[in-house]
Amino acid sequence: MKKIVILGAGESGAGAAVLAKIKGFETFVSDMSAIQDRYKKQLDQYDIKWEEGKHSDELILDADEVVKSPGIPNDAPLLLKLQAKGTPIISEIEFAGRYTDAKMICITGSNGKTTTTSLIYHIFKSAGLNVGLAGNIGKSLALQVALEKHDYYVIELSSFQLDNMYQFRANIAILMNITPDHLDRYDHCMQNYIDAKFRITQNQTSEDAFIFWNDDPIIKKELEKYGLKAHLYPFSAYKEDTSVGFVEDKEVKIIQPIAFNMEQEKLALTGQHNLYNSLAAGISANVAGITKEDIRKALSDFKGVEHRLEKVARIKGIDFINDSKATNVNSCWYALQSMTTKTVLILGGKDKGNDYTEIEDLVKEKCSGLVYLGLHNEKLHEFFDKLELPVADIQTGMHDAVEAAYQMAKKGETVLLSPCCASFDLFKSYEDRGDQFKRYVREL
Ligand code: ADP
Repeated sequence: MKKIVILGAGESGAGAAVLAKIKGFETFVSDMSAIQDRYKKQLDQYDIKWEEGKHSDELILDADEVVKSPGIPNDAPLLLKLQAKGTPIISEIEFAGRYTDAKMICITGSNGKTTTTSLIYHIFKSAGLNVGLAGNIGKSLALQVALEKHDYYVIELSSFQLDNMYQFRANIAILMNITPDHLDRYDHCMQNYIDAKFRITQNQTSEDAFIFWNDDPIIKKELEKYGLKAHLYPFSAYKEDTSVGFVEDKEVKIIQPIAFNMEQEKLALTGQHNLYNSLAAGISANVAGITKEDIRKALSDFKGVEHRLEKVARIKGIDFINDSKATNVNSCWYALQSMTTKTVLILGGKDKGNDYTEIEDLVKEKCSGLVYLGLHNEKLHEFFDKLELPVADIQTGMHDAVEAAYQMAKKGETVLLSPCCASFDLFKSYEDRGDQFKRYVREL
């Protein structure tokens, strides 16, 4: 019997193990950390052997093939040993893709993946298609392929997942944008990261679609090099020679494969970045043959994704918006850009070497006050105090930050949490930070 070893028992690893077992492989799961109870239960239920807190080399090096969690770097010592032995190392998506004929809609990019993936899933689901949501969100693809049967899967792919994909074919591939990210995992070489992102197009044929942001300088420059066979669907904010999706006369237009239009005002998601996300989603639904009426309806009634420009409440005429997922300066730029009123911005946290110059003009133009929320706010003082806006320095936590912002904001203004920073100084995660924000806002 062929032996499969799965490294890492999170959502993707546990799902891959169930699929491997069901397909008749001798299956072993190894995780260097503690495995969550629900995954242990899942493995036990299928009688799958597992270990935690260690990697037993002799068992792992005996594998015919290894399915690796995207969190484990390719140069981890065990991985180097497997590579030296010539053992194939694949991702969970690659593995699951072997056992389904479903149509695959795959989304990657440096920013906007989760929003676009969720929006596409919403359109397909609302149109009555039998669709599964997978990748970085929801249940793993492998578990769904093992236990459910969908006609379509909408899959969010990080560059780490793409790294270990070889034969997998995306029927519709979407590349939102490429900006420097995770370079520590790519030998600090931008080209390696770009190549990883472009892997989303590998194995595509002339029957497939490649949807991408036409104005991304990196995508533009790199496109030719890959000699893509797929039909190209570039989108942009304004009409350009090559774009098939754009805005013209306040209407969102898609000209291929089927002419589509709707008022931009009707889009559920606001802001320039969300226009791109809506265009990418609309084109993919159009390519999949979903009717114009269904696409229009779903693009206008999408509820959004938690912690991404999420409307929380209006209290005494002040709107509160949670954008806790904005963990870098670029995403805060897009958030500020989409504000339609004066804004009290809550920002700060664990700084990743941020350069705030990118948002300086927008802060000047849109902000009526700033709340610095972090254990170390010196850098924020240094950069923003010179703008002479009202400032509150909060090191104690979200409760006080919400209070301070509420005091500062006037009727008709907005309080925006869009921190530019990671959350780990005062919070467990960006979700914890956003949840606390929502809780304290609702208690006002
Ligand atoms: P990802 O899954 O790629 O991290 P998300 O959809 O979770 O992306 O969005 C993360 C943050 O990035 C959001 O808070 C938003 O401010 C910003 N963002 C979303 N879509 C885009 C886009 N198309 N381009 C640039 N920034 C975006």
